[in-house]
Amino acid sequence: MIEIQHLTKQYKKKELALDDINLTIEHGMFGLLGPNGAGKTTLMRILATVMPATSGDAMIDGFSLKKNPEAIRRKLGYLPQIFQLPPQLTAAEFLDYCAVMKGFNNKKERKQEILRLLEQVNLTDKQNRKIKTFSGGMKQRLGIAQALLGNPDLIIVDEPTAGLDPEERVRFRNLLARFSVNRTVILSTHIVADIESSCEQLAVLNHGQLVATGSTSDLTNHAEGKVWEVEIPADSQSFFNENQIISSRKTADGYVHKVIAEIKPSDSATLLEPTLEDGYLALIGRGANG
Ligand code: ADP
Ligand code: MG
Repeated sequence: MIEIQHLTKQYKKKELALDDINLTIEHGMFGLLGPNGAGKTTLMRILATVMPATSGDAMIDGFSLKKNPEAIRRKLGYLPQIFQLPPQLTAAEFLDYCAVMKGFNNKKERKQEILRLLEQVNLTDKQNRKIKTFSGGMKQRLGIAQALLGNPDLIIVDEPTAGLDPEERVRFRNLLARFSVNRTVILSTHIVADIESSCEQLAVLNHGQLVATGSTSDLTNHAEGKVWEVEIPADSQSFFNENQIISSRKTADGYVHKVIAEIKPSDSATLLEPTLEDGYLALIGRGANG
């Protein structure tokens, strides 16, 4: 459904934020995994037609991102990483405003659509509550509701679980998985568990480059106490994750990854920074025990 071809982005006078990305994304839920600064938001914004690429293109449902962004814009829903919700509006008022912006002119139709969306994200009973009273999880569900306006084929969701507590995170992931039936959902995250539980396919992005693509089970199973042989570029950093440190060592054949430590969940907060030794990079990965 989505064919990304040689996509590159360079912000003014900076190194490449995206460096020759080539990627095919099919139906279902697709995970884009990478640490902070990897280029996830840049890629999501380009695919959501919010910002042009420096070079390259993507074909989405047969339309070229470069030549026909309007056609693509009509088919997609987008939940940006930083999404400011108007605190004084109620959930229903906010969705009504979004629907008007999306060109729903008929008031009756709009009302029907909003009720349908509120139900889909389990906010029906909260529709007349002001957004300022909402929890983080409720705000994200409202964010998804606006992305689902008009029933788009493609939904792009950028780091939606980052600000949520673990319980809300699980609930939100399950909700998102429901919406991937009969459409494509691209989920960007730095949390491996988000992807493991819901995405069949993933791509790993680091320093603007794709360092691995494939099925989630293949990529995550290889990280369980074994040497993980995925080639990644020389300047690669850490992947933030929950209970393993995977070190990455440069050899003549590329990088070899090996699990070097298990981390107890209570310790993980102190181990978010990569350990840098001679020729080694720390990669924090998810363990076999979940
Ligand atoms: P991620 O979402 O994975 O954290 P981003 O796409 O936000 O990564 O950023 C990728 C790189 O591009 C980073 O080095 C970041 O500093 C840079 N960058 C992002 N947005 C801008 C911008 N508007 N202007 C200049 N540099 C930017
Ligand atoms: Mg981001």
